[in-house]
Amino acid sequence: MERVGLTTTIPVEILFAAGATPVDLNNIFVTSNKGKKYIESAELEGFPRNLCSWIKGLFSVAIDNNIKQIIGVTEGDCSNTKALLEVWEMKGLKIHPFAFPQDRDIKNIKREIDNLAKNFKVSIAEVEKVKKDLHAIRKRVQYLDELTWKHNKATGFENHLYQVSCSDFNGNYNSFLAELEEKINEIEKRPTKKGEIRIGYIGVPPIFSDIYHVIEEYGGRVVYNEVQRAFTLTGFHRDTSIYEMYLDFTYPYGIDFRLKDIEKQIEIRKIDGIIHYTQAFCYRGIEDIIVKNSLNLPVLTIEGDLPGNVDARTRLRIESFIDMLKDFKI
Ligand code: SF4
Repeated sequence: MERVGLTTTIPVEILFAAGATPVDLNNIFVTSNKGKKYIESAELEGFPRNLCSWIKGLFSVAIDNNIKQIIGVTEGDCSNTKALLEVWEMKGLKIHPFAFPQDRDIKNIKREIDNLAKNFKVSIAEVEKVKKDLHAIRKRVQYLDELTWKHNKATGFENHLYQVSCSDFNGNYNSFLAELEEKINEIEKRPTKKGEIRIGYIGVPPIFSDIYHVIEEYGGRVVYNEVQRAFTLTGFHRDTSIYEMYLDFTYPYGIDFRLKDIEKQIEIRKIDGIIHYTQAFCYRGIEDIIVKNSLNLPVLTIEGDLPGNVDARTRLRIESFIDMLKDFKI
């Protein structure tokens, strides 16, 4: 089965319907122990030093893993993706641009999804069939999310990992489900966690490999991973059309649309404080101004650059932030 690289979440149902294997390049980059090497080799190709590490990592991961086709999101994700797609194309990769229309008009998302389905030679009826199969799995991921914030048993990292994996279901949704069920079974048997500071993590997934452990080390726990949860697309009904489903996907449609959901989740999940993660050299860092201006609870903004562990300065800031939230709770 041909592997198709993804730069972020796209209607993955199309690829499964086509018998292709989706590969989220971000997940390979961040879990690989070659992260810094990937960045170096992109810089040797000429990618600027002052460019987001994810872009350089994605470029090298695709080349290193011999990926021949890529679906790149040109609207609603990253302002750098268009140029990245051009470089891959120059290297001989087949490129499929996909745009989440910023006007959230159903006609426009229909055009994008229909085009992608046509490129992979599948009908919308076949895509809808896979969507129904995936719906059951997405609901189990939603249950794992509840095991985090409602039943207080799952860790922030488990919550992050299984939700972020919904971009490609690790390439095979049946084996993903089997692994997920095993994990759920293990988590259900744990005692309920008590007395922690409840943290909401918003912004793009972290480049730091140990941030969830660091937060827990200081007495906090992430009970809400905003973008990762958006990737699960769990908030729609089974019979909602594939077009409406991807129109309700909060991540690509701007900070105001995202904030409505963030505010709701802060209340439902009884969150004490927000960690807003931004990536060095990412335009999304500007959105921090709106986040801080809009949310009515303490927000700590942290910035990551290279893959690896949380740096000492950020560790100290996380520790002080959680200490402050503990003082508020007394
Ligand atoms: S972190 Fe920002 S700049 Fe980097 S890939 Fe994501 S959206 Fe693009």
